[in-house]
Amino acid sequence: MKTIQDINFKDKKALIRVDFNVPLNKELVVTDLTRIEAAKPTIEKILNDGGSCVLLSHLGRPKNKELEFSLQHIVEAVSKVLGVQVLFASDCVGEIAETAVANLKPKQVLLLENVRYHMQETAGDRDFAKKLSKLGDIYVNDAFGSAHRAHASTAIITENFPKDKCFGALLASEIHSLEKVLGDSQKPVTAVIGGAKVSSKITVIENILDKIEHLIIGGGMAFTFIKAQGGNIGNSLVEDDKQTLALQILKRAKEKGVEVHLPVDVIAADQFSEKANTQISPITEIPEGWMGLDSGPQSNSNFENVILQSKTILWNGPVGVFEMELFSKGTISLANAIANATRQGAFSLVGGGDSVAAVKQFNLSKKVSYVSTGGGAMLEMLEGKTLPGIQAILD
Ligand code: AMP
Repeated sequence: MKTIQDINFKDKKALIRVDFNVPLNKELVVTDLTRIEAAKPTIEKILNDGGSCVLLSHLGRPKNKELEFSLQHIVEAVSKVLGVQVLFASDCVGEIAETAVANLKPKQVLLLENVRYHMQETAGDRDFAKKLSKLGDIYVNDAFGSAHRAHASTAIITENFPKDKCFGALLASEIHSLEKVLGDSQKPVTAVIGGAKVSSKITVIENILDKIEHLIIGGGMAFTFIKAQGGNIGNSLVEDDKQTLALQILKRAKEKGVEVHLPVDVIAADQFSEKANTQISPITEIPEGWMGLDSGPQSNSNFENVILQSKTILWNGPVGVFEMELFSKGTISLANAIANATRQGAFSLVGGGDSVAAVKQFNLSKKVSYVSTGGGAMLEMLEGKTLPGIQAILD
């Protein structure tokens, strides 16, 4: 696996696909720097070598070059994070971009305008990819958040860099951390799969069953498993058409010797609201009209015991509606257990969407081993898929 560490970038222009698809507020100011900070190690290594960086990214889903999606809004934020004044080119291909790149000196950074201002990007257009490829001597992919897309700038472009292409530091560490969980992992391995729906996590569960010893199923998706086994779940979230599949998963897990841990109790609420009345209820006896919105104290304690005995932990999806304080205790308890296991030497990977938001909300990002930067991309890796952006560098 060729990474930036294998290359000396002195006097080279690196064309780096980054994921600067950052949130902006109404004043068009960046509100979360995580993705920019995540690209910093790659950019710094190249600048320290004496090379220059041409940054290529998308922002949002523009239809018609709307100004709100211009990357010029993030120039100041990128400059601040990197500690150098970043230059900007108002197009990512053609004369404007090519002139800006030609004028770029070693140790300078140039940010190109939103690559999705051109429809050929998402279409994976080869001619467009060829035009992009004129903007650097070496192509570096560090955009994990977009690695599951076969777009021009994330995958197709590598056709024009048969040898001069490599992984950036971020993409390499995302791959490495997943390998530590599902590849060469220390046992016992526990996967916590939560979130709203079974349907969105089925493929993940099926793919990881061969690689884990314990499976904790929490959140809204647990109720489909409980109902399928004859439990009364009241008005809790359920996917009735997935009950048979839930039973098949439990059977398959048993055959493979994976211990499945479902919640045994819940915080039941009489409405989906912070103002709800609540009661602790066994998960198999939730009263009619009530719904389980968080895991209960006995479940939290059971989950904690499993996690503290684990050497490797994967966490995807909250075990309750953590966005509402009233139903956040289960997810906080789980996050703390994972942090404690990590302190005792376990390797923990949090990835794939809302659990990342949860560890950030509870200020636990630094207490787990690795927080993935890619929601959809991480989910697809957990599903066992080869991501086009990764494959294109390996080919
Ligand atoms: P996902 O994107 O599939 O990981 O789902 C995350 C969402 O699941 C979060 O917004 C949670 O609020 C929601 N969630 C977790 N537990 C429950 C539950 N018991 N009932 C309804 N929604 C839930």
